Amino acid sequence: MSLQDYRPMMERCSMCLNCRWIPFDKIKSQRYGQNCPSIGYYNFNTNTARGRFQMAQSMLDGRTTYTDDVIETIHSCTACGACDMACKVCRYNLEPLDHNLELKAHAVADGKTLPGQLPVIENLVKENTMLVGAKKANRMDWAEGLDMIDLFKETADVAFFAGCQYSYNKDLQKVARNAVKVLQKAGVKVGTLGGADNCCAGRALQMGFTKEYNDQSSANIKAFEKAGVKTIVTPCSDCYHAFKRQYPKSGSTVEVLHMVEYLDRLIADGKIKFTKSVPMSVTYHDPCHLGRLGESFTPWEGKEKKILNQVHTWEPRRPRYTGANGIYDAPRNILASIPGVELVEMERIREYSWCCGAGGGCSDTLPEFSSWTAGERLTEANATGADALVSACPWCKNNFANAVDENGNKMQVLDIIELVQMAL
Ligand code: SF4
Ligand code: SF4
Repeated sequence: MSLQDYRPMMERCSMCLNCRWIPFDKIKSQRYGQNCPSIGYYNFNTNTARGRFQMAQSMLDGRTTYTDDVIETIHSCTACGACDMACKVCRYNLEPLDHNLELKAHAVADGKTLPGQLPVIENLVKENTMLVGAKKANRMDWAEGLDMIDLFKETADVAFFAGCQYSYNKDLQKVARNAVKVLQKAGVKVGTLGGADNCCAGRALQMGFTKEYNDQSSANIKAFEKAGVKTIVTPCSDCYHAFKRQYPKSGSTVEVLHMVEYLDRLIADGKIKFTKSVPMSVTYHDPCHLGRLGESFTPWEGKEKKILNQVHTWEPRRPRYTGANGIYDAPRNILASIPGVELVEMERIREYSWCCGAGGGCSDTLPEFSSWTAGERLTEANATGADALVSACPWCKNNFANAVDENGNKMQVLDIIELVQMAL
């Protein structure tokens, strides 16, 4: 689609501004009623989904040009999808998140990018990873000494896809190693593409770099086919979303499971048994791309039409992604099964969770905005009285851990795999 294709949505936005709040019946306090990091930080209505519709319409009509403020506003969206869920509580014919991303892609195609975006994308093109400075040649360093099956030679139960953060981030590499060890101990034959895989590139899509996403995802789909991959397990929520929701649009048929889904199954089947108590109260952060954006892709072909020359609809009916069917129970089941762990929930959870701030490339391009967003979540987590904030995504963990360092916040931040490891 092009930005022009979204014009009917721009025109039918009712400007109700539901897109900046979690649904009113879910709000527990004024302090944690907002859902959109972008308007939360910039305090300007143009940063909402509604504002983005209006800005795009104004650009198409030639009333708005690219100023520095306009370019920053377009890219200051973490692609968290909270506006999308909020809009769909009462609207059925708008896709605010898809539009936000199309607006970014439109700006990128016009050469209107932020300075921090280009090194990330250059590294993706040259080294197949979006972590600046990381090299393709070192992609499998994290797995040294692990007895993983080479999928180009043998079959395995699952292909383990660590993703860029777990592969290159020194603080997270041990988490990926532990994830593989936990699976192996449970009797799972774990395979690898041995570095033939690239970055999932979902983050490039979130930043508006469509061509770069297409190049990387096509190469990955070919590598999966060549190695005969049937099932991927990934501990990264960004990779999960890319493989599960985006790659099927390009023909991928591989089954995709997040590590928490697979662990939940192994625990339920008695293949993982916890032997130690972890006396700790924790609060769980739902990663956007595992939770509300973690629903399966549903193929759809059809066209837009008007009923009685008034009501916009689609024929046949379009799939409706409301976030209700994201991955929420599996991580909570895991936490409930660890002896000693007590879960205390934050006010904004499941499809109405607050974003960690790393998405949409914002941790690279707009670090102050990204850090503020993470700090908001840390404050909310601290309000529960929990000992630790637990998540299931390396981008979330990294962004929270950096915000702890920057803001002096005392909250301990853990990956759920670390908790599992502590109980074995
Ligand atoms: S995008 Fe949706 S929720 Fe936001 S103002 Fe428009 S109709 Fe309302
Ligand atoms: S995707 Fe998230 S950050 Fe972007 S406009 Fe929607 S709620 Fe705000």
